[in-house]
Amino acid sequence: MTTSWLSFATMCWLCDFKTPSSPTTAPSEHRWNARRGFLLAAGASAAGTALAQVDVGSASSMRNLVPAETLENSARQQYAQVIADARSKNALAPDGHPQLQRLHEIAKRLIPHTAQWNPRAKEWKWQVNLIGSKQLNAWCMPGGKIAFYTGILDQLQLTDDEAAMIMGHEMAHALREHARERMAKSQVTGLGLSIASQLLGLGQLGNVAADMGTQLLSLKYSRDDETEADLVGLEIAVRAGYKPEASVNLWKKMQAASGGNNNASFLSTHPSGANRIQELEANIPKVQHLYEQAQRMK
Ligand SMILES: [Zn+2]
Repeated sequence: MTTSWLSFATMCWLCDFKTPSSPTTAPSEHRWNARRGFLLAAGASAAGTALAQVDVGSASSMRNLVPAETLENSARQQYAQVIADARSKNALAPDGHPQLQRLHEIAKRLIPHTAQWNPRAKEWKWQVNLIGSKQLNAWCMPGGKIAFYTGILDQLQLTDDEAAMIMGHEMAHALREHARERMAKSQVTGLGLSIASQLLGLGQLGNVAADMGTQLLSLKYSRDDETEADLVGLEIAVRAGYKPEASVNLWKKMQAASGGNNNASFLSTHPSGANRIQELEANIPKVQHLYEQAQRMK
């Protein structure tokens, strides 16, 4: 199995709490018949230009060093591999799976509010899959390729509002192109020169993916990226009509579930749960009117 992009994505760590372990899928209790992943054909219909309420500044221009299209193409292929791998282990939720349907409903509500954060999202072929795994995890690759693990839905007993906050957070990483920025920055510092050059070359994707695996494990989103994903995700979810306070509930649940892991080393590169809760609480008043607006439009 090629885990490079999966690993990369999990470094988001929802980004502190999801799991400290390396990604594995297909525990025996989650076995499904292999079925084709669901393509959200509706795509991103533009929601028009709506003024952002949370203040996250403009995206880093550094990211321009890595072409978005290259990264999205690579992610698309990696996503297909991850999904194929899950399918081969009977760990891919079939189309009719109730939890997957729930995720699709949430995605359909969120997607129309994504393009304002990144015009490319209008062209993205968003996909959402559910993978059987005990891990508290979810991620979105560049180009809108989303996966949730059953562990995060089951263990945290997520409400729709809370699941929407997670999805919004992960979508925000993709929309704000944090992976692209990480790639570009590591190219500049020379740390990830081989990664970036391989990416740009992209002749033999399989080899590239294999080579990138271990290096990508050390790539992490920054504290700023995490805060940005929290706030952008909050706004996207609230515009879609999900309760803003669910963002705080989510992180409280995540904190409780992570138990003693709060002191793990990933906190040196990611904001603590307490900080992100404070940040979210401070931003809820900014988006409250969007929630009320969305309720009126129902
Ligand atoms: Zn994150």
